[in-house]
Amino acid sequence: MAYHRGGDSNRSKGRYRRTYHRRKVCKFCADSSLGIDYKDVKIIRYFTTERGKITPSRISGNCAKHQRMLAVAIKRARNIALLPYTTSTVK
Ligand SMILES: [Zn+2]
Repeated sequence: MAYHRGGDSNRSKGRYRRTYHRRKVCKFCADSSLGIDYKDVKIIRYFTTERGKITPSRISGNCAKHQRMLAVAIKRARNIALLPYTTSTVK
């Protein structure tokens, strides 16, 4: 009885990939006094990249509601030239 066990599946079990689940909390939810205002460039600036793009919520940690509000505020701020649409890299 040549019972040959071929193809052993040695799956390395128990090796849990370490992912740090840093609990991000929405800045605006945490601080109710912090309002999203398109005139508040200081706050809005914080949520834009250096090139003037809106920071994704998965990076900034904002909840969907506030991220949406922020996006509107940023667009408004851009419209009245408080924020850049993009930094021009004209060489
Ligand atoms: Zn929020």
